[in-house]
Amino acid sequence: MQMKIVLLGAPGAGKGTQAENLTCMLSIPHISTGDIFRENIRNGTKLGLEAKSYMDKGLLVPDELTVNIVKERLKKDDCKNGFLLDGFPRTISQAESLDAVLDSIGTKLDAVINLDVTDDVIVKRMAGRRICQNCGKSYHVVNHPPKVEGICDDCGSKLILRDDDKEETVLKRLREYKEKTLPLIDYYEKKGILFHFDGAKGIMETTDEIIAKLKAAGVGI
Ligand code: AMP
Repeated sequence: MQMKIVLLGAPGAGKGTQAENLTCMLSIPHISTGDIFRENIRNGTKLGLEAKSYMDKGLLVPDELTVNIVKERLKKDDCKNGFLLDGFPRTISQAESLDAVLDSIGTKLDAVINLDVTDDVIVKRMAGRRICQNCGKSYHVVNHPPKVEGICDDCGSKLILRDDDKEETVLKRLREYKEKTLPLIDYYEKKGILFHFDGAKGIMETTDEIIAKLKAAGVGI
């Protein structure tokens, strides 16, 4: 089954965790612009340096930079049978660029999954979020803990709180989300491909609901 999916939601809505579950179950690549930026920061690239200056302030990285990395990523062979975009698009201009890229190769998105979560749940969640400083895998001290406290299950490195998950930055990220990303709900609603989910539910419960709803709607068939 081929599926081209976008995962939308405020920072802390659970996009990363749902993306991991869904891409594993659907056997499609997980493309997270945030992960690509963080990998570049860890590797000290020019792109990483530039992205970090925005990320640390809780701001969105400029569209041109972001769209280019997605365009390059979508050209790779593993995207031929579908993909899941996590954290992209985040602006109307990015969404229009994505439509244009897909249109140019004669395809379009199958579904956009929106995870709804209230601000107070988000702020609490972000405080417990941890990330592996080596491989970037994400955890949560309560909802998705590692097997050994403070240590990554996959590579054994130390888990840290992301700089941009500190409360003051989270509040700025939420403002950016409301101003620039929220209009995408309307954009995709009008295209008739938007599916809403309650991101405050349990992780597996939400994954199961997403899979069931996509199947019932015949998405990607
Ligand atoms: P995330 O891991 O998806 O929460 O992204 C972390 C940060 O990376 C965001 O707060 C932005 O600064 C930046 N970022 C990730 N994706 C995008 C995007 N599509 N457009 C602009 N900035 C982005």
